[in-house]
Amino acid sequence: MTAASDTSAAARTHVFEADVARLLQLMVHSVYSDRDVFLRELVANAADACERLRYEAIARPELLGEDAAFRIRVICDAANARLTVEDNGSGMSEGDLVEALGTIARSGTKSFVERLGDAGAKQAESLIGQFGIGFYSAFMVADRVTVETRRAGEDAAWRWESEGKGAYEIAPLAPGEAPARGTRVVLHLNEASKSYAEPWRVEEIVREHSGGVAVPIDLVETPGDEPRRIADGAALWAKPKAEITAEQYAEFYRGLAGQFDEPALTAHWRAEGRQEYHALAFVPGARPLDLFDPARKGRAKLYVRRVLITDDADLLPGWLRFVRLVVDSADLPLNVSREMVQESPIFAAIKRGVTNRVVADLVKLAEKEPEAYAKVWENFGAVLKEGLYEDPEKRDELFKLARFRTTKHPDGGRSLADYVKDLRENQTAIFYLTGDDARRLAASPQLEGFRARDIEVLLLSDPVDAFWVSTALGFDGKPFKSVTQGAADIKSVAFAEGAEKPATETDAAAATLIAFFKETLGEEVADVRASDRLATSAACLVAPEHGPDRRLERILAMGGQGASVSKPVLEINAGHPLVTALASRYAQPEARALVADAAWLLLDEARLRDGEHPADAAAFAERLTRVMTKALG
Ligand code: ADP
Ligand code: MG
Repeated sequence: MTAASDTSAAARTHVFEADVARLLQLMVHSVYSDRDVFLRELVANAADACERLRYEAIARPELLGEDAAFRIRVICDAANARLTVEDNGSGMSEGDLVEALGTIARSGTKSFVERLGDAGAKQAESLIGQFGIGFYSAFMVADRVTVETRRAGEDAAWRWESEGKGAYEIAPLAPGEAPARGTRVVLHLNEASKSYAEPWRVEEIVREHSGGVAVPIDLVETPGDEPRRIADGAALWAKPKAEITAEQYAEFYRGLAGQFDEPALTAHWRAEGRQEYHALAFVPGARPLDLFDPARKGRAKLYVRRVLITDDADLLPGWLRFVRLVVDSADLPLNVSREMVQESPIFAAIKRGVTNRVVADLVKLAEKEPEAYAKVWENFGAVLKEGLYEDPEKRDELFKLARFRTTKHPDGGRSLADYVKDLRENQTAIFYLTGDDARRLAASPQLEGFRARDIEVLLLSDPVDAFWVSTALGFDGKPFKSVTQGAADIKSVAFAEGAEKPATETDAAAATLIAFFKETLGEEVADVRASDRLATSAACLVAPEHGPDRRLERILAMGGQGASVSKPVLEINAGHPLVTALASRYAQPEARALVADAAWLLLDEARLRDGEHPADAAAFAERLTRVMTKALG
């Protein structure tokens, strides 16, 4: 016999991993008002376990034995203040128990715990409200939780027990005490949560939160009663749309996403023809915690004829990773490995179909409900923009979705179509400025000449912007052009009325000064020249005419991609009072040193405006001190 029947073996005490202990601390002391969600989490785990075994049984049908009908059973025991959730799914081995219930494996829960680190208790409450937190939420309502389980196909059975206070115990179970297969989670409800053993209450919660689960759910009102079916286990995605309410979709989304918000977009369709599949996709109403996880993993569940193959199928491009998706295919092969399923050409066709549909629905939403769409863009725009760079084929459609902050619409929401509609006469390009901070961008001296001509400029502050904008060919026949690149061809655009105009003429004195600057700054700059883009500032830095955008260069250099930053061009506003004063001082030979200092200071000032540092901080400080002393002297 195996160790399982040896009930004399002592229970072993284990200590929770530090993160679990913190999470439990929070759950045990939770005053979170919507505690009902614990039941949804336990039912979801039971359903997951059934789906896991359903998959395993494809290769090993003997695992199911006589009992091929999966079900979840919820057993109320009001007299003893107990609630049990039981399934005939995969069950857990001893190792599984330690791994699954003693540590935090799940990525969502992990980032939840990371957030806890800096969140106060109050905020932690609202975090529970926003994110599914799995098994441990049972400790919101129970002061003791017992898990009895047997892994399908194994003799050994185990009891896991904890009061949620830092340690748990695992002991072997006698065969008669354990479920024949699967897991029984018994909650010993705490004083404040006794009503969760009342059948009417449980039925209500299950119907509300777990109606779309793909395994049937039975309710037992008091121990010994006949089970009564309260949810039919028909997968939501396979039901006709007309039979599904918005609330049912929303509940299903919450269970799928582990989030508690309303989906911003729901797309449910059935593909017919070459590939047959059901698909149900949601765009979340709030940002998932791991949106910018470098792994860029999506969250697509793939079923083949109702059998869950994997819950992280690569069914969406990285730039749609925020979409929650279920696909149930009629055509993919069942009895091959997960990896092979994903290499099938059918899989690739489904991926294309799903991607096209989601993008098309987003475009529709943007056209028909601009306000609802604005929120989607606010949450996920930075991710969608990755597609502009990665997926040239989709670029035109993504341009319909993109919204921007511009000099004329500093709060964002501006589409390229609207930008192009409002082009100034003789304006031939779409102008942009990239940087780290949208507010600082708006104050950049480089924009002065554009403002003077009333030309709108896109303010691009997401890191990905510098990439797509440098590869995109244009929109509506207009190229994208950085305002830092060369002498922007805006001369033929008329000045706006009453605008502060850039100096357009350079007199001989200014030209001499500029030549002296160039000589003084030498190798530090590619060129010094008079500017026609500055109206109120004395100087700014731009990229050489045919060089790459300055910010893109910096990002590449930081990423160690070998690219060296090319030298900028210093542009001087010949009409600026400082420049005219310097030009006349230059005529006096004894003032040369001061004018040279000014050249360096103007260069460093322009660097600072771009968010860079002076090349030599000590020299910068010395010059500044000299010039200030002179000014006061
Ligand atoms: P998640 O379900 O997101 O993985 P949970 O905290 O809800 O996170 O559950 C943790 C793990 O515990 C699960 O991944 C699973 O391995 C295991 N588990 C929980 N409940 C069951 C169950 N009823 N049957 C089998 N395994 C379970
Ligand atoms: Mg779970």
